[in-house]
Amino acid sequence: MPSPTSAAEKLLLQMVDDYTEREISPEDMPMDAAGDFPAGFIQKLTDTGFLGLMLPQEFGGAGFGPEVTAAALNHIARGNASTAVTLEGHFKTIDQILKFGTPALQQELLPSANDRIFAFSMTEASGGSNPMGIGSTATREGDHWVLNGDKIMITNGGLAQVYCVLVKTAPHELSVFVVDQDMPGFSFGKREDFIGLRGTPVGEIVMDHIIVDNDHLLGKVGDGGRIGDSAHDDARILMGAVLTGIMEHDLKIATDYAKERKAGDQPLTALQVTHRKVADIAMRKETTKLLFEKAAQLKANGQPYSEEAAMAKAYGSRVAVAAGDDTLQILAGYGYSREYPVEHLIRDARAMEIAEGTVEKMRSAIATAEFNK
Ligand SMILES: Cc1cc2nc3c(=O)[nH]c(=O)nc-3n(C[C@H](O)[C@H](O)[C@H](O)COP(=O)(O)OP(=O)(O)OC[C@H]3O[C@@H](n4cnc5c(N)ncnc54)[C@H](O)[C@@H]3O)c2cc1C
Repeated sequence: MPSPTSAAEKLLLQMVDDYTEREISPEDMPMDAAGDFPAGFIQKLTDTGFLGLMLPQEFGGAGFGPEVTAAALNHIARGNASTAVTLEGHFKTIDQILKFGTPALQQELLPSANDRIFAFSMTEASGGSNPMGIGSTATREGDHWVLNGDKIMITNGGLAQVYCVLVKTAPHELSVFVVDQDMPGFSFGKREDFIGLRGTPVGEIVMDHIIVDNDHLLGKVGDGGRIGDSAHDDARILMGAVLTGIMEHDLKIATDYAKERKAGDQPLTALQVTHRKVADIAMRKETTKLLFEKAAQLKANGQPYSEEAAMAKAYGSRVAVAAGDDTLQILAGYGYSREYPVEHLIRDARAMEIAEGTVEKMRSAIATAEFNK
């Protein structure tokens, strides 16, 4: 397990728990109802240092590794999955700039990741599952590139200030560039009205003749597919952590309620039907936890983690929806009411069967990895 080993790691997770209980959890239901986060919320996260949690210390961050980063998002998601997913989108983008950015680009951008949010943009209206189907382009003009295109459904779209964008540099060649919202030609489009994770802004960005230097290219021309896959891998570990947090939240609601609620003259805890539901929620939660922790550990050790990351998200998203459904059934009429958080935990979990690659695509990836063994 990636249990914190150093005093700094333990302190971090304690601080995350305290802050989540005090500032983040109370906003969970209001954020879901409003479809937004309250004014000043992101500034408070920034001031607390959360944006720089996994950013190396040379760029002014706290420099925590993959295991503790995933654990921190897991703890936040116990109280508010939307906030954890906003951080997931930010961290996976930083990771790609660390892996594929030139030292000059890293120096230019990464110190600002302590107080500016980053996002990774691949999906377009033509379909998210097929990167080769995108229409965005980067065209070489002298020693610059000119970017055009339209990205939709981007986590933190409209909130983030820095975007990695997947574009075509030739008809069958994908590349990734980094653009800043301050660049001429950059604008925001529609914000999605999604049914879950409603405190995470997800929106459109438009690139209309944005001119960038060559050092805003990540990796080499043609590395876009590889970088996109890498972003997915990193994101999926963190989503496994978020899904575990959602199931921990379910479990707490289900057990607290079952201890209080009477069925006739005995509590719900005396019923075998309740045992079965609570045991299933606990087993799903624990299995997803083991999967994301294993993927994070492999990543920390410099070993391949793509398949395990896909399992954490694919398995975790499916069972988190089922765990929410069992929790709802224990609370019955109250579970079905918007006054209680259970129904929105199902909607939140459901997003992760789609975001960062659909469950169907991940099953293909997992099966392919098994065939190749
Ligand atoms: C909450 C949320 C956050 C998101 N954040 C981001 C983000 O930060 N950045 C970003 O770029 N995108 C983001 N997305 C978009 C997401 O990545 C896409 O929705 C996803 O990749 C699927 O694309 P699509 O919706 O166009 O569906 P399609 O690609 O049109 O797929 C339709 C259906 O066909 C299936 N399908 C398609 N192709 C295959 C295949 N080859 N094998 C098996 N099944 C297939 C899919 O599984 C799906 O069931 C986000 C989406 C959500 C819901």
